[in-house]
Amino acid sequence: MSRPIVATVDTSALRHNLAVARQAAPHSRVWSVVKANAYGHGIDRVWQSFAATDGFALLNLEEAILLRERGWKKPILLLEGFFHADELAILDQYRLTTSVHSNWQIQALAKAKLSAPLDIYLKVNSGMNRLGFAPEQVQQAWNKLRGLENVGEMTLMAHFAEAETSEGIEQPLRRIEQAAEGLDCLRSLANSAATLWHPHTHHDWVRPGIILYGASPSGKWQDIASSGLQPVMSLNSEIIAIQNLKTGDGVGYGSRYRAQGEQRIGVVACGYADGYPRHAPTGTPVWVDGVRTHTVGAISMDMITVDLTPCLQAGIGSQVELWGSNIKIDEVAESAGTVGYELMCALATRVPVKIS
Ligand SMILES: *Cc1c(COP(=O)(O)O)cnc(C)c1O
Repeated sequence: MSRPIVATVDTSALRHNLAVARQAAPHSRVWSVVKANAYGHGIDRVWQSFAATDGFALLNLEEAILLRERGWKKPILLLEGFFHADELAILDQYRLTTSVHSNWQIQALAKAKLSAPLDIYLKVNSGMNRLGFAPEQVQQAWNKLRGLENVGEMTLMAHFAEAETSEGIEQPLRRIEQAAEGLDCLRSLANSAATLWHPHTHHDWVRPGIILYGASPSGKWQDIASSGLQPVMSLNSEIIAIQNLKTGDGVGYGSRYRAQGEQRIGVVACGYADGYPRHAPTGTPVWVDGVRTHTVGAISMDMITVDLTPCLQAGIGSQVELWGSNIKIDEVAESAGTVGYELMCALATRVPVKIS
């Protein structure tokens, strides 16, 4: 590749972050969430770094099959379950654990011809109102499933809409406890935020995603600053041109930035077609030649312009970190009005990825 942009995935940080998640929930088993191609890191690149996990959670059958074909023998959980009844034959063949969130799935499980029972995760709607049975419907769904030959081990599962705060946890927990009343069941409730911050939600299996990739579930990197989590993905490039501006000179599309005086600007080989957020405003942090500076003007498809005022030594070929260990992906995301999750997932396929 001649264009200097490259993303790096730090596999030792992946291993380290899994250990951090485990320490946070020492009495629980861990589903490592690798949906969305491992949050944009590439499931095939990262899964071996998670070899110490108890299971993988994801949504695409293709991703589940890939893990089985690579030799992963431990559990795989389909977080949204099967989408059509005919997929049950594949779940059977590859021994996949499925979430069950709707009555039609119970009927499909009742009718399917399977070689052996499948483990299921019965999903409770904790108040988020996406997937799951209302608390008052759970006992009936549980009993129906318990009576099916095709159903093996059963776990009660729920998800939190606002696990960043204690208040966000309480009401959903009450709904979950209402649903579970009288059931002697395994439970899996905790996403990353609950894994880090709400030990009473841990129960039998936790389901961390974003923290495995070293970013913050709240969107604020300060919230994980003392957790020991390490950034996994770095996005790096180089300065490919320099412009010397005079007062009033514009930069980029729409001239959204104008120089207030004489100013040196660097042009970086990275744009929104690489996955850098187009909405990042002037002032979004960037690391150039070992110095923290910021973007100026609009993000183009293939280029970003940055202020070189604090980077006295920088010139063509200087190293640029868009995000990584110096500039947290959460900082860039926050500046652009999004979350680290979205930036990771949006890394474009045209960006070459290096493993370190
Ligand atoms: C994505 C997802 C997770 C992981 O969420 P993070 O915030 O990344 O930890 C856990 N459970 C379910 C059901 C999910 O869809």
